[in-house]
Amino acid sequence: MCRLGILGGGQLGKMLSQAARKLEFPVEVSIYDTSDYACAREDADRFHRGSFEDIEAIQRFAEDLDIITYEFENIPVAVVASLSHAIQGSEALRILQNRLLEKEFVDSLPGIPCVPHAQVGLGFSMDYPFIVKTVQFGYDGKGQYLINDVNDLAHVKTGMVAERYFPTLTEYSMVIARNVDGTTTHYPTFENVHVNQILDTTRFATIDKGLEEQLFEKAKNIALALDYIGVLTVEYFFADGKLYVNEVAPRVHNSGHITLDAANISQFDLHLYSLLGITYPEITIDPDWCMVNVLGQHYMAVREKSLPGKFYDYGKHSTTKNRKVGHINGKLQYLDLLKKAREE
Ligand code: ADP
Ligand code: MG
Repeated sequence: MCRLGILGGGQLGKMLSQAARKLEFPVEVSIYDTSDYACAREDADRFHRGSFEDIEAIQRFAEDLDIITYEFENIPVAVVASLSHAIQGSEALRILQNRLLEKEFVDSLPGIPCVPHAQVGLGFSMDYPFIVKTVQFGYDGKGQYLINDVNDLAHVKTGMVAERYFPTLTEYSMVIARNVDGTTTHYPTFENVHVNQILDTTRFATIDKGLEEQLFEKAKNIALALDYIGVLTVEYFFADGKLYVNEVAPRVHNSGHITLDAANISQFDLHLYSLLGITYPEITIDPDWCMVNVLGQHYMAVREKSLPGKFYDYGKHSTTKNRKVGHINGKLQYLDLLKKAREE
């Protein structure tokens, strides 16, 4: 029997809990979240509501647990550092929850560089168009502004990260896993389309083997340099004939939801295998799948239809516009149909 604790009770915590149920031994899942309505709650054996700033409450939560994982980045580093059985470690959080530290770190490693960037401050200048992002707490494009010309400069605030903006680009993600037993594995590259800075669809990329190798090498360098254990995702841009790192997430990733159907082992299983030291099987995939995200505004339309795909309903308490409430995995031939099914 293994007692697993998850910090964060959103959809990633939910799908991790569900994966825990499929392991060959019994697992008791405990979830810690700030909201009584956390969607992972119904999948957990035990649930604790509390603040992520409350180190003592989290330490009490963690006391009787065997391993702890987190499903999102914005947890105070000190909290995770104080938990010896948080196997992912706190170094990944320390660096990756801060866009500037993240970029400096990524650029200090060999391989693909970050998008050209600078911190806004005295003497800052960058050619238009550029994009500014808050240094911390961004997700789904929140805290980001596209700066096309001088009229947009009101959004450019000291301390923000400014990056070159690519009007046309291809986006990739590489989901890799590193096991406590020292081994590493990864899925083939995913190709992602974002709409309004929110992931819209994922499919397997048609990509040159040499480029894919570079994506994997960089992701592996990052995981090794952080001494990271678990699933880690690197988001990449391919623009103007060059590869760039966009950002790194020390966790399972929305693009990896496709693996629930398209792979012999899902990213959620892989994360647990990593933490528990279970030997990875060789990963096999069926490239004939795609994933379509369902946001609050799509929910009713999707619920009402019979879809040529599998709808994963996160059971969110509210269906807020532009918030992820589910996703659909389906065969690639139905991609357009599935996208359309989200409309009224
Ligand atoms: P988040 O943490 O919100 O995922 P990202 O930095 O990954 O933030 O940005 C979200 C999306 O916005 C990206 O996946 C991409 O579609 C778009 N985007 C972000 N930065 C750039 C850029 N420099 N050039 C072009 N598009 C960008
Ligand atoms: Mg992103």
